[in-house]
Amino acid sequence: MDKLLTIIVPCFNEQEVLPLFVEAVTPVRKELKEKHELNTELLFVDDGSTDKTLEILRDFHARDESIRYVSFSKNFGKEAGILAGLKNTKGDYAVLMDADLQHPPELLPLMYNTLTTPDSDSDTTGSGPYDSVAMYRDDRKKEGFFRRHFSSVFFRLMNRLSKLNIKNGATDFRLMNRPMINAILSMPETNRFSKGIFNWVGFNTKWLPFETGERPAGESKWSGGKLLSYSFDAILSFSEVPLKICSWLGIIFCLVSFFLGIFHFIKTIIFGDPVAGFPTLYLMMLLLGGIILLFLGIMGQYLARIYLEIKQRPVYIVKETEDNDPIHQKER
Ligand code: UDP
Ligand code: MG
Repeated sequence: MDKLLTIIVPCFNEQEVLPLFVEAVTPVRKELKEKHELNTELLFVDDGSTDKTLEILRDFHARDESIRYVSFSKNFGKEAGILAGLKNTKGDYAVLMDADLQHPPELLPLMYNTLTTPDSDSDTTGSGPYDSVAMYRDDRKKEGFFRRHFSSVFFRLMNRLSKLNIKNGATDFRLMNRPMINAILSMPETNRFSKGIFNWVGFNTKWLPFETGERPAGESKWSGGKLLSYSFDAILSFSEVPLKICSWLGIIFCLVSFFLGIFHFIKTIIFGDPVAGFPTLYLMMLLLGGIILLFLGIMGQYLARIYLEIKQRPVYIVKETEDNDPIHQKER
């Protein structure tokens, strides 16, 4: 029997690009069917869009059964979209793609080929067979100065601070097989950083470079602030290093004050106490106060995350899928 590939597309307010996306992916689906005997289905995850995204998706499904969708009750973020997509994957394989055509659908046959027919060329990380084919961006020049530098610093910091090894330029554009999908679904955490999770579960991954396309319409949903807090989340959910720095600095400062205490004790015995040293005193207080506040903050961040995980809140809430579409229901 032919295998099935689920193409997962998280969308948040993508009314302009959705028709373009389907138009671009349709010939590729045909090619996969004809040349690779691979059936495909499209699975859109509407991440609480406030524009016409959901209406467009209902319409897609009414016209083509192989286009499915899941719609959230509000915006839960792209990570939640990825999880919902993988959970609802019926296929033997799943590929994650952005709706904005920045992940070119034309690359799917190449990715599928690489996954199923392992090669042994030089830039492979290990050799096949692979469980996953992941795409990394090879065109950072196209991005703005801020984003380019920010993301390369982020990847370096992330790898240094955690036991992960995420490729610089890694994207969520990734094809994987059923065992890897199941492994990802077995990770119960609420604070999800997919690039970290993909790396953490292991499996044999082949990295391929690609050039991101231009977004044909709509705009990027990532503001500078959102990007910063995403990076912060990522580091905190995969690294204990900030906590360790905290304890080490604490120990160092205790030692310093202990020896300073001895020094002053001896000095006072030998030379008496000429009521000096107020600057030292208040500077020390300021410094220590500052450091304590800083690290209380870091501890607080971890605590907040533990708190969120313990509450076991769902990562997303589904409001509608193609099975309970209120508009087209009567027709069936
Ligand atoms: N996206 C989402 N939820 C969000 C933000 C983005 O599902 O809260 C989707 C978005 O619709 C797109 C993909 O994630 O399909 C990538 O988003 P975008 O193009 O805005 O990010 P960029 O390419 O600038 O990194
Ligand atoms: Mg984009």
